[in-house]
Amino acid sequence: MAVKQSNAVETCKLLIDGTWHESEATEYGDVFNPSTGEVIAKVPMGGDSDVDKAVQSAHKAFLEWREVPAVERARLMFRFKNLLDSNFEEIARLVTREHGKTLPEARASVQRAIEVVEFSCGIPSLLTGESIENIARNVDCETVRHPLGVCAGIAPFNFPAMVPLWMYPVAITCGNTFVLKPSEKVPLTSLFIAELLVQAGAPKGVLNVVHGGKDCVNALLNHPQIKAISFVGSTNIAKYVYETGTRNGKRVQAAGGAKNHIIIMPDADMDSTVQALQASAFGCAGERCMAGSLAIPVGDAAERLMPQLIEATAKMSVGRTDLDADGKNAPDMGPLITKEHLDRVKGLVDKGVKEGAEAVVDGRAAMEKDGFFFGPTILDKASPSMTVVREEIFGPVLSVVRTASIEEAIKIGEDCPYGNGAVIYTNSGAAAREFKHRFNAGMIGINVGVPAPMAWFPFTGWNNSFFGDLHIQGKEGVQFYTQQKMTMTRWFKPTSDSGKFHDPIWKPGSN
Ligand code: NAD
Repeated sequence: MAVKQSNAVETCKLLIDGTWHESEATEYGDVFNPSTGEVIAKVPMGGDSDVDKAVQSAHKAFLEWREVPAVERARLMFRFKNLLDSNFEEIARLVTREHGKTLPEARASVQRAIEVVEFSCGIPSLLTGESIENIARNVDCETVRHPLGVCAGIAPFNFPAMVPLWMYPVAITCGNTFVLKPSEKVPLTSLFIAELLVQAGAPKGVLNVVHGGKDCVNALLNHPQIKAISFVGSTNIAKYVYETGTRNGKRVQAAGGAKNHIIIMPDADMDSTVQALQASAFGCAGERCMAGSLAIPVGDAAERLMPQLIEATAKMSVGRTDLDADGKNAPDMGPLITKEHLDRVKGLVDKGVKEGAEAVVDGRAAMEKDGFFFGPTILDKASPSMTVVREEIFGPVLSVVRTASIEEAIKIGEDCPYGNGAVIYTNSGAAAREFKHRFNAGMIGINVGVPAPMAWFPFTGWNNSFFGDLHIQGKEGVQFYTQQKMTMTRWFKPTSDSGKFHDPIWKPGSN
């Protein structure tokens, strides 16, 4: 059992060596149902000793797992995918329960997670090496890919199923073993899914799960047997993880925070732009690293866009997501993750208004005594220097900077410290091409509100949205979790008896 029932509140366990263990932690954190503010589970805030046990288990498992043929490792992923499919609704409900996403949003995120496992089923064809005959006279050269060893993953709260699955299915199919540290705010989904991997037949120790926050992360960063770390979270921590991990000789990919720009050209189709903007800015309550959080209407686009956008946004419903049994009664938006985060979002909106932005839709009114609710908010007539334009808010807040030209819009992107996503709404191929080529971000959408790549492509954040060389997902993910070995081969032709090749059994004149 991944969780222990005590006084109706679950206590999370660790997965080590294929079985569930109590943590040695002395402190515990709270896991909330964000729709009600109730504590639904306790999570141990582990450190060195929990991590060391998990790493020892992963290291022992690695010595055998790396010898398992790649196609057999892929077959584990086929079985895992089948179990994820048959438990789809339960996983989505768990995401809703501990994170607060609406059930349709949770389902969409679980679908994305499963796609990474589908991608992993095909990894053997990406593990092929290269070879060339006669690179020098009589010398052949080849490369093959080897796993790295024990890898670790550190996840954020905002996609409890999807982000951990960005990491370990790829790592494990490449022949590594893994230690996952889910977000301490949403550990339950990770435990449920880890149990499915065990059921699918993962050998003991191939996947291990530990819990905690800063101390647990530091234990992973400092453990000498961990070869590589995948991190997803806020920019300051991503930078810290990258710097500390690489200083300790580890390979690190660290995805950070974001501020994603949406440019609206005057020729854009306004009805579909309004719908897409709403979905991008307020979907998942804005708690998405690809959320469109800054709208930049160009020229007279604002005059047509804003009245429609304001009217549609003001009508959005905000409410509990945990009572919706089948996804048919979902509100448009659920709660934020914690009270602390709610207060931070409110503080940033207060600051934006103080700095001169106009709250044309004001979500502060939706705050309630119970549950962590904040309504959709639009801060119009913001200017590029304002905090709400420059900083990630990670809530349902859309800032609007009106500009005169696409040049001005591109300049705002150049000054942005992040570089995850950027989107243009237009019917002009020339404007789209200019934007795609010049905008300072790694993931571009053309009339697509959330250009988050699917599992077959890398998640190519730039600037302070990513630290490292090889991105998460796709072929880059496989490259990250493998190292190449090159072999040069030369076989000498026999000199003692022409026409016969030298080998230890054959002797000159023996046949
Ligand atoms: P976070 O940075 O607070 O936490 C991420 C992880 O770091 C957690 O596992 C947490 O336990 C750990 N952590 C927290 N404080 C730490 C510290 N002081 N030292 C070491 N480790 C620490 O992020 P979050 O609030 O859980 O998630 C939201 C953030 O994640 C947003 O900034 C969002 O943009 C980002 N995110 C980025 C991507 C991407 O692909 N770029 C995807 C999802 C989320």
